[in-house]
Amino acid sequence: MRCQAAWVCLILLASAAANAAEFPALRPIQPSDSVLVVAPHPDDESLCCGGLIDTARRVGASVAIVWVTNGDGFRWDAMVVEHKIRPRAGAYIELGRKRAGEAKAAASVLSVPPDSLFFLGYPDRGILSLLFDHYFPATPWRSKFTGDQSVVYDFAVREGASYDGEDLVRDFHDVLDRVKPTLVLAPSTQDTHPDHRATGLLTWRTMQSRGELDKTRFWIVHGGHGWPRPRAYRPDLPLTVPPRGVGMDWEQFPLDESAREAKLRAVSAHATQMKVMARVMRSHVRAVELYSRTPQPADSLCDDPKPCEFENGTLMEESGL
Ligand SMILES: [Zn+2]
Repeated sequence: MRCQAAWVCLILLASAAANAAEFPALRPIQPSDSVLVVAPHPDDESLCCGGLIDTARRVGASVAIVWVTNGDGFRWDAMVVEHKIRPRAGAYIELGRKRAGEAKAAASVLSVPPDSLFFLGYPDRGILSLLFDHYFPATPWRSKFTGDQSVVYDFAVREGASYDGEDLVRDFHDVLDRVKPTLVLAPSTQDTHPDHRATGLLTWRTMQSRGELDKTRFWIVHGGHGWPRPRAYRPDLPLTVPPRGVGMDWEQFPLDESAREAKLRAVSAHATQMKVMARVMRSHVRAVELYSRTPQPADSLCDDPKPCEFENGTLMEESGL
């Protein structure tokens, strides 16, 4: 959404908020369902989908989660872990391990079993580059945070996998082959965080290549400056359509009290993130979750996510969510 003036923005935002309650419901989750949540970083699984995950597990459906990165490139978190302005490379790996541990704790809160958790271990802040500039193994990406060019985590799906797009796509196919999902929840290519856009593109292209795109629904966590508003724990309020999601084909998934409480506990399990942005984290716990049938609006300016008009714009939020 491009606003020529503040009042235009206000009208568009008000209209998006008013329409949220009118969206059709996401189809009910059945006991036979196999849900796969695709998370760019630890915490995204809870922020986007914690309520649906809890609900799915309570009706007896299978749920698996795949994390593309371990969130090991978030400098503010690394500074907290290391207690230094300039964290050493090892501190980022330590942060990645810590955040993966928090992701496991959040999954446990949501009753997702350990054997349904998949950590790919690719570089935080590098996924878009892997899919475009570093797709082939001959030119792997080097993380400016950890200094590594391959997956270093011994708990990853494939330790030693090269930081390139080809390896990433292969590992993602492996997870899909193992989980055999009937419903995939992935980030939208409209999200302002480049790892999220890249993960959305990865899921979109991969599911399309498998002829299973109709099983995919898309969510947004970084929806534009200040969203969700208010930045507070308000589980009584519906989640409004984010500025970046206007024009998408939204469906709503209402959360009962149990699902909202479970989602809050799962979000809170991400202790390192809560230390630096608790209010933002809790503001994602609302009365509904929103999922879109399409990864972006028909008239999106981000058809090719790189370059995207928002890449260096004021809407790009410098957070590690
Ligand atoms: Zn994220």
